[in-house]
Amino acid sequence: MPENKNIHTTFDRLLKRDAKEKLLNQKSRVIWMTGLSGAGKTTIAQHFEVALNKMGYLTQVLDGDNIRSGINNNLGFSEEDRYENIRRISEVSKLLMDSGIICINSFISPTNEIRDMAKKIIGEENFIEVFVDAPIEVCEQRDVKGLYEKARRGEIKNFTGIDSPFDIPDDADIVLHTDKLSVDECVEVCLQHILPIIKYDQE
Ligand code: ADP
Repeated sequence: MPENKNIHTTFDRLLKRDAKEKLLNQKSRVIWMTGLSGAGKTTIAQHFEVALNKMGYLTQVLDGDNIRSGINNNLGFSEEDRYENIRRISEVSKLLMDSGIICINSFISPTNEIRDMAKKIIGEENFIEVFVDAPIEVCEQRDVKGLYEKARRGEIKNFTGIDSPFDIPDDADIVLHTDKLSVDECVEVCLQHILPIIKYDQE
């Protein structure tokens, strides 16, 4: 992409992230849920957001619903489009984070490469990776959106876990076995790990 010489950045004149964090009394981070379709990413993201909200934290959930119907509605599921999908999501997450907001993302983000790109854009120190893990048999049995059935019938191509790969994250900050824990238990694990990180210490 050519660099536009006519863009004059104003980064140095914008209020810094710390000023926004201080205002909101929280440390902003991006919490990134990765896992197979049906593993429980969206359910946990929603419940986790409610739990944080009750404690006074300002959050924003990004998921397929609000991203693919809006900013990314021109993208499909080819490898190139999946990459662009995650690139834009990462840039949007970074803007939210720079506004002091805790961003909770729920995306399959199937490969190490794609998650590494997200980490690089957002900054490793800001990125909390949550592997929402359930065996594919369990996800397929849940088949929340009927997508596995369609993929098995060949009506959806390149479906993660069926005919498209999912790399197990090897350095996730949190691993949630949603076939063994309840939604509430998963939220509790997230709270225990994440609350100390997002707490703003007023000096
Ligand atoms: P994803 O966003 O990963 O595609 P969803 O959250 O849409 O998955 O669906 C997960 C399904 O699994 C929901 O029907 C949810 O009620 C169920 N479920 C059962 N146990 C859990 C758990 N511990 N965590 C999250 N979801 C769970």
